[in-house]
Amino acid sequence: MAASGKLASFRLPPMPTVSELIKLYNLRAEKHLSQNFLLDMKLTDKLVRQAGSLKDAHVYEVGPGPGGLTRSILNAGAKEAIVVEKDSRFIPGLKLLSEAAPGRLRIVHGDILTYRMDRGFLQNISKPWEEDPPDLHIIGNLPFSVSTPLIIKWLESMSNRTGPFNYGRTRLTLTFQREVAERLTASTGSKQRSRLSVMAQYLCTVRNCFTIPGRAFVPKPEVDVGVLHFTPLVQPQIQQPFKLVEKVVRNIFQFRRKHCHKGIEKLFPEACRAKLTQEMMQKADVDPTLRPTELTIPQIKALVDAYAHICNHEPNFLNYEFREELQLKNLSKQRNMPMDAFMDT
Ligand code: SAM
Repeated sequence: MAASGKLASFRLPPMPTVSELIKLYNLRAEKHLSQNFLLDMKLTDKLVRQAGSLKDAHVYEVGPGPGGLTRSILNAGAKEAIVVEKDSRFIPGLKLLSEAAPGRLRIVHGDILTYRMDRGFLQNISKPWEEDPPDLHIIGNLPFSVSTPLIIKWLESMSNRTGPFNYGRTRLTLTFQREVAERLTASTGSKQRSRLSVMAQYLCTVRNCFTIPGRAFVPKPEVDVGVLHFTPLVQPQIQQPFKLVEKVVRNIFQFRRKHCHKGIEKLFPEACRAKLTQEMMQKADVDPTLRPTELTIPQIKALVDAYAHICNHEPNFLNYEFREELQLKNLSKQRNMPMDAFMDT
């Protein structure tokens, strides 16, 4: 059949299986690097399919480890993959894979939290933000230990169109602990609705692809794992700086079971709290007795816009952090000293 003949041309030549490589290099999983391997190629192929067609695509893979997912990426026809792995023990096995797919696999021994994703591929693969996404994907069976800071870092880069989003609306296909995946996809009114849901959903379409049972990994983690696909929106639903949105959303969700005005109050110093909270709620036209989990993104947008408006008149509020003030208060109480004794001069 012609189609399968074409597919066969991407396929890697016969080589040791991932399990054999693990034995060959004596690769025991390291807990501190959140190593849980996927050895079943049917599952890695399924995960990779969630990204869409990878034929001739460029791919960043996070934490390739022994390379199961990497094989699926190459077998799916990726033109070039850059894999970033922190643990040097995996590099020899990945080099074998690179030799089996000449010119298609670049190995970076480094930390994904600091690796410059705006530089790996040539700029000629970029697409203007308003157009279709570029042929560039980020794929990873993420280490649990870095998955939340990593997605927050990427969301910020998405908002600023930097890092991997320097190439356009780069799509991501990633795994998360089930509980984190549920928070990222939770809709308004659901129990799992949280700061993470709002931060992800105001910037992208987040699709819940499927769940991988914990028993499919080696070693088996304590939880199941959700596979999610993110596509950055052409127009973010909130058009304010990421840090400002993050501050308002963090404050709103700090008292998740209370009425939303409780968290919003804490955006302002005590002296003007009541007046400015009322002003902000009225300007946004949001019912102060709604719970944080009941707020829609358009309502949160209205609140962020109202806060930005107030801060335009009083820029000092931007630096105000209720938690810091609370810490100072507690410290001054403990030491029986006035609060300004602890403030920077
Ligand atoms: N992709 C492999 C698979 O699916 O079998 C391994 C996935 S395992 C959950 C996570 C991988 O990320 C490990 O290989 C681990 O060494 C690597 N890793 C952990 N922290 C990392 C970091 N900060 N930067 C790059 N790789 C990291």
